[in-house]
Amino acid sequence: MDPAKRASVGALSEVRDDVRSETHLEEQVKDWLRYGEDLGLAPYYRDRAPLHAIESATASSEICAAVPAAMAAAAPGRASDAPTNVAPSPSASQKPATTSTILPATAPSLFEAIERIAGDTLPRIREDIGDCTRCKLHKGRTKIVFGTGNPNADLMFVGEGPGRDEDLSGEPFVGRAGRLLTDMIKAMGLQREDVYIANVVKCRPPENRLPEKDEITTCSPFLMRQIDAIKPKVICTLGSCSAQTLLQTAQGISKLRGEWFDFRGTKLMPTYHPAYLLRNPAAKPEVWKDLQKVMAVLGLQPKKR
Ligand code: SF4
Repeated sequence: MDPAKRASVGALSEVRDDVRSETHLEEQVKDWLRYGEDLGLAPYYRDRAPLHAIESATASSEICAAVPAAMAAAAPGRASDAPTNVAPSPSASQKPATTSTILPATAPSLFEAIERIAGDTLPRIREDIGDCTRCKLHKGRTKIVFGTGNPNADLMFVGEGPGRDEDLSGEPFVGRAGRLLTDMIKAMGLQREDVYIANVVKCRPPENRLPEKDEITTCSPFLMRQIDAIKPKVICTLGSCSAQTLLQTAQGISKLRGEWFDFRGTKLMPTYHPAYLLRNPAAKPEVWKDLQKVMAVLGLQPKKR
């Protein structure tokens, strides 16, 4: 065979191999997706996507495109695949005042299957924590800051961890940031006693640093149990740590805030931490917009001045 003909036959054979390999890969992906569905994992991934992404995808019959994106969004440490990148966010003027169109869960999530404890109560969770030494934060703490408020609250706030004042008093959000949170709650037409307030970690990180990954991993199951016991209608996370922990994402709070998420069947609204607002008062209107969305869902009227 002449060299030119041999080269073209070789090239044709390579193309054929590529096509075969692509077909094989496609079959593998389809098998993998079927396997995931058989295990009931699809909702686990889907319920961590921004609701607007799923809703718009459903409306436009593009759910197949949205689910892999949501699955990617669920993977921690991949900022480029972060949740709000799943679909373009509507502009502020296009966003609905309420998000009653929450995607219903079709099966229990992976977390639901693993972590829910039937008949769990706040006293039992506190008892289980005991005089905890499970992570290194116990070394510097004065008091465990378990959480406070209405055990049947419709609204639960979740911060990152106790500061100095909280460590001394044993109560969450009692310092300057806490007073601002109390003002925010009152502006929503509620009292502090009406809501429940807790943190991702129950002991103060040294020098008020952010909780570290191993500390969050060790302590956050207690928060999950608190949420399950209280069964709030809405969770409002304060700052990046709590949003990232509950949503299992590395996405920053400035991208997450103001969007509704589904956390195991409960609506979750991330917003800025009050301590951030003390440093950046210009961000207060953004937080107020987020809280107004929460109020609309809970049917709350702003406090009359
Ligand atoms: S932060 Fe949580 S896990 Fe760590 S010692 Fe305190 S209560 Fe225990």
